[in-house]
Amino acid sequence: MKAIRGATTVEKDEAENIKQRVKELLTEIKNANNLNEDNMIFILFSNTADIRSFYPAKAAREAGFFSCALYSSLEPEIENSLNKCIRIMVLADISTKPKHIYLHNAAALRKDLTTINIAVDGPAGSGKSTVSELIAKRLNILHLDTGATYRAVAFACKKHKIDFYDEQQVKANIDKFNIEIKYLNNKQSTMLDNIDISDMIRTPEMSLAASTVSAYKCVRDTMVELQRKFASSNSCILDGRDIGSNVLPNAQFKFFLTASAEIRAKRRVAENQTKNINQPFDIVLADIMLRDKQDSMRKFAPLVCADDAIKIDTSDMGIDEVADKILKIIQEKV
Ligand code: C5P
Repeated sequence: MKAIRGATTVEKDEAENIKQRVKELLTEIKNANNLNEDNMIFILFSNTADIRSFYPAKAAREAGFFSCALYSSLEPEIENSLNKCIRIMVLADISTKPKHIYLHNAAALRKDLTTINIAVDGPAGSGKSTVSELIAKRLNILHLDTGATYRAVAFACKKHKIDFYDEQQVKANIDKFNIEIKYLNNKQSTMLDNIDISDMIRTPEMSLAASTVSAYKCVRDTMVELQRKFASSNSCILDGRDIGSNVLPNAQFKFFLTASAEIRAKRRVAENQTKNINQPFDIVLADIMLRDKQDSMRKFAPLVCADDAIKIDTSDMGIDEVADKILKIIQEKV
């Protein structure tokens, strides 16, 4: 049996804000600690006296946490303490080390526990994966290339002879795909059925197939859950298309990298050559433009720059230059 602590704050003493923040906190605690209906015993809440409009325990019930006992109480009024704060303690029947979660202004209560999440988004060839890998090394955190998760779905379709253009077929099989992300010496390995497919998913065929399957809601829901779970329990940098706008809207740092389609195609041709893939520039450019179109026009979580992301045009910059710029911004804030 373990006790898990957490806290969050609300912007305003309003029912909707309380409901949203309680749901967010409990979902993060649940994901980080692998909790479920059976192993959660009780949740104890306390709130500061400036929260009067809604019971946090009721917000938890409305968010679907009704199978365990819930209790609200009032936090002692201590001078200069954090305002509009909701604290919680979850008692759970787990044997793993508990992961405590502190969100929003409550992160300041336990600086020692705060995980750092960095979101890097951008179109294909904008340099996001290489830059993210460099930053992860320098900050000694993990890098999750989320594109690899969609490529893994495309690869699983091919392996199991599922037509990836047929959304219903993909939907019927997505839960059966055994996709996992593992790390050896901090380097990401993308696994399918316990086989490392990291290199096999880097072909032009898989790039286009990934772009196709990533537009399906069933695929996005499954992969976003995997990515959020990962981010809630690790300090990490995630790169993709919708990290700042959808996967981690509360990431402490958000960047959006761009570059002209021609520059991105040139980079991809050079990268391909290192892997003995020889595709003419015109074909690579056409693929990139098609993926840009598919990724930014799709219905679910399209490629967009989050409102609070810092945009960097990498057309005339080297990889180290981009990484230095991002690191400087992070270090100034931290
Ligand atoms: O980044 P990468 O080129 O490996 O991504 C492959 C495809 O996966 C992209 O074209 C995009 O359609 C999809 N993707 C996505 N959301 C992400 C990451 C990748 O839709 N967060």
